[in-house]
Amino acid sequence: MNAPPDPQLAERADRQAQVVRALEAVLPAHALLWQREDTTPYECDGLTAYRQRPLVVVLPETEAQVQAVLRACHALDVPVVARGAGTGLSGGAMPHALGVTLSLAKFNRVVKLDAVARTAVVQCGVRNLAISEAAAPHGLYYAPDPSSQIACTIGGNIAENSGGVHCLKYGLTLHNVMKVRGFTAAGEPVEFGSAALDCAGLDLLSVVIGSEGMLAVAVEVTVKLVPKPMLARCIMASFDDVRKAGDAVAAVIAAGIIPAGLEMMDKPMTAAVEDFVHAGYDLSAEAILLCESDGTPEEVEEEIGRMSEVLRAAGATAIAVSRDEAERLRFWSGRKNAFPASGRMSPDYMCMDSTIPRKRLADILLAIQEMEKKYKLRCANVFHAGDGNLHPLILFDANDPDQLHRCELFGADILETSVAMGGTVTGEHGVGVEKLNSMCVQFSAAECEQMFALKRAFDPKGLLNPGKVIPTLNRCAEYGKMLVRGGRISHPDLPRF
Ligand SMILES: Cc1cc2nc3c(=O)[nH]c(=O)nc-3n(C[C@H](O)[C@H](O)[C@H](O)COP(=O)(O)OP(=O)(O)OC[C@H]3O[C@@H](n4cnc5c(N)ncnc54)[C@H](O)[C@@H]3O)c2cc1C
Repeated sequence: MNAPPDPQLAERADRQAQVVRALEAVLPAHALLWQREDTTPYECDGLTAYRQRPLVVVLPETEAQVQAVLRACHALDVPVVARGAGTGLSGGAMPHALGVTLSLAKFNRVVKLDAVARTAVVQCGVRNLAISEAAAPHGLYYAPDPSSQIACTIGGNIAENSGGVHCLKYGLTLHNVMKVRGFTAAGEPVEFGSAALDCAGLDLLSVVIGSEGMLAVAVEVTVKLVPKPMLARCIMASFDDVRKAGDAVAAVIAAGIIPAGLEMMDKPMTAAVEDFVHAGYDLSAEAILLCESDGTPEEVEEEIGRMSEVLRAAGATAIAVSRDEAERLRFWSGRKNAFPASGRMSPDYMCMDSTIPRKRLADILLAIQEMEKKYKLRCANVFHAGDGNLHPLILFDANDPDQLHRCELFGADILETSVAMGGTVTGEHGVGVEKLNSMCVQFSAAECEQMFALKRAFDPKGLLNPGKVIPTLNRCAEYGKMLVRGGRISHPDLPRF
């Protein structure tokens, strides 16, 4: 006997047909995807444990098309999820089951580069690294350098306020973007910031940067470019104890030094990357630090000397300083490839992203070691130590539901322990869907309501990337009850792989 038709599937098919009809009127046929085999590649971002097939995917090529898509979706009350390269690690670009995924992949043009003003105007789908490549002939580059820079887009960087190795000295995306142009959910053109250093009125640029695609869709971005330093050298310091390495990070900053990069990797991570890229890491060390200095040759020599002294005093067991550019790049090659290298340790990983005050680095790393025993899962650490921005990679197998559940609990424990130590639940990867529950631990009901009020001011119908970033009061109440009972709910309402 045939199974009765599923009313939800029938409703979805009707809605899909309606949305396709509306979008066919404003887009060429090749810019509109809705067949299962075409939309499946869009069902997740870098957080692959959670997936959702979108109703429709659109790939507009002009601003007029983006505007028309937004207007059509607004008229039909259809949710819209903007998407850059899909490298996000918190599920920010995960589709809405009844929504349109708006891919900005075709917006990949560097519009204008002004070497005198040291600015570049780029379309939102331009890759982060492509900006520096375009600026290189002028001796300039774009400073924020997420490890995913070969693939991630400036639109995604803006939405997540992305960071990278060099952000300790040169600032995050927020500090390197001057202007964002785009559209509201209703398709109205908007512009935040200006080509000048300051802008009249309320600082909405800071509100939009880091808003995870919930307030506006960016189409064009003006970024600052900085001169390439004359020289950069990197120290690789080994430690026989994680606590000493963590304390060394705090000691470098306390000595008044702002390195161009200050990163840390623990033993499991160095072993995995060494096997992968042969960077020359000290495999006997419990942790290694990479500390970079850049500037004129005189500045670099002086700073490398001072950093080496501080690191030795903090207990470094070995110190190597890059002798030339090739060696410097080799030191960094391991750090830059750490996430892909973790594929050698486990079929899946979940990358956490909390921040903590630098002086608590050793405490959180030791707490994570205890959690490995509690949740019976391994964890490797590689992170922006100078910023106090952790990236514990919890290793698990997504095909095993019990492992996924334990991984979620482990992740929530790290985030909430970070908050208890005076930190935050996210440093640079955003909240997305992944950290919704932990937001309840960091923010009060009143604070969440203020965030919703801001969302309503930009997007009264709540159509841009709904259900992400800000937890509802109901969700927080449920999560609170679970915590009181000594348990945790992680993502009961999310479609899983
Ligand atoms: C191996 C690896 C290493 C990484 N290293 C780092 C790192 O060092 N630092 C770091 O900060 N992050 C890092 N990330 C995370 C990720 O690359 C960044 O968050 C990046 O900014 C996402 O860019 P994307 O183009 O892939 O955006 P997507 O993943 O496509 O989207 C991310 C968010 O931005 C929104 N969005 C995208 N484009 C637009 C737009 N035009 N307008 C409005 N909203 C938009 C989406 O809706 C979503 O909420 C890493 C990821 C991987 C896989």
